[in-house]
Amino acid sequence: MNLHGLPSVEQLLQTKYAAELIASYGRPLTLQSIRSSLESARAVGIKARESKLPDRETLLSQAAALLQSWTAPTLLPVINASGVILHTNLGRAPLSTTAIQSMLAVAHGYSNLEFDLETGKRGSRLIHAESLLRQLTGAEAALVVNNNAAAVLLVLCALASKKRVIISRTQLVEIGGGFRIPDVMRQSGAKLVEVGTTNRVHLSDYKEALTEPTALVIHVHHSNFKITGFTEEPELSEIADLAHKSGVIFADDLGSGTLIATEKFGLAHEPTVQESIKAGADLVCFSGDKLLGGPQAGIIIGKANLMERIKKHSLARAVRADKLCLAALTATLRHYLKDEAVREIPIWRMISATTKQLKARAELWAASMGQGDVMASESTVGGGSLPGESLSTWVLSLDVNDPDSFLRKLRMLHPPIIARTENDCVLLDPRTVLPEQDETLIANLASVFRSYQLKNNA
Ligand SMILES: *Cc1c(COP(=O)(O)O)cnc(C)c1O
Repeated sequence: MNLHGLPSVEQLLQTKYAAELIASYGRPLTLQSIRSSLESARAVGIKARESKLPDRETLLSQAAALLQSWTAPTLLPVINASGVILHTNLGRAPLSTTAIQSMLAVAHGYSNLEFDLETGKRGSRLIHAESLLRQLTGAEAALVVNNNAAAVLLVLCALASKKRVIISRTQLVEIGGGFRIPDVMRQSGAKLVEVGTTNRVHLSDYKEALTEPTALVIHVHHSNFKITGFTEEPELSEIADLAHKSGVIFADDLGSGTLIATEKFGLAHEPTVQESIKAGADLVCFSGDKLLGGPQAGIIIGKANLMERIKKHSLARAVRADKLCLAALTATLRHYLKDEAVREIPIWRMISATTKQLKARAELWAASMGQGDVMASESTVGGGSLPGESLSTWVLSLDVNDPDSFLRKLRMLHPPIIARTENDCVLLDPRTVLPEQDETLIANLASVFRSYQLKNNA
């Protein structure tokens, strides 16, 4: 085929269509897309001798499609109808309106991140969250870092590098995404000293290990699993006392780190941050985006002298929290201080939603869709907290021919809807869907359901 009939890059660039593309995507990228479009036209032309050469319109619309795919964002908001409240793959905790506004305020312009307004001199970014955390937890000092994995690593690097750290074999956990406590300990240069067995550890096991010079005893919350049956672990306060008798630091990696009692909502008791401090932990680490319901962050609280050493360690700078995180975190912490956490923080609203409210929403969804059954089911908290625990809920259940392909269709929507299947039905749980998303959810769900049913009945 004669490829000379193809227009040149210059000719295409001079069209009105190209001008529009340049206005949206800029000249260099548009040029690149036009070249790619022409290249593939040539490649097709060489192979298929008979076919017709594409016209300008076709070439430019191919370029437009390339531009669209090159510049489309990959990080998208989704509607979480899975019923897992702290879904790590879906970004864990949605933020409160105030937290979002606080981020917006500091993102928009400059802030006093490290500037003392009183003196006009350099200040410290550490102060923004510290007094709130002290007030809320009773700890002497606090530090916010990138995430809890960084918090644990920093504590060990600053206080236990090349020294012995005692940990129970019942707590050598893998959190998910490859975060394994023993690996983090090794990474820090600490010498891991395992005591006890998989199911049982006694105070005497710790006592024996403490006869040799040791920097730290660490307690790690099981987070995502439960050991049942013939098990034993001493109380936190007993381990703390024992460590202190030997002059050894006692650190508690709490993981989810709730500030409020989960049993109020019909869940099992999740250890609180305040309890760890009361039990005598010198340091407590927890995440910002698990049961705290804030942004991704790692929070370290504890004794002032130890916190001083941690803050001075060079790794602290490498894993420090940025202004957006600090804005959202401090706004979230203020909700606790003002005793409005359950009302204002989305994850607590989800946890505290009543079955009556949830049933009403599921019924509304079913009525608006004119499809599906409303069924009792279970939501989970997730995020490495409260393993095996669930919250009673009501879901919309859709009986479709091929649930997996239906789930896929839901994921391809804008915004994607994430649901789950159970007994060959697609379930959508209102607990994790923000109320303001209801309308979008119903409209998009209904359109998928219509096209899906038609196709499968045909
Ligand atoms: C979740 C968790 C971590 C890791 O926290 P990230 O904030 O995800 O880095 C560490 N330790 C425990 C016990 C956890 O539950």
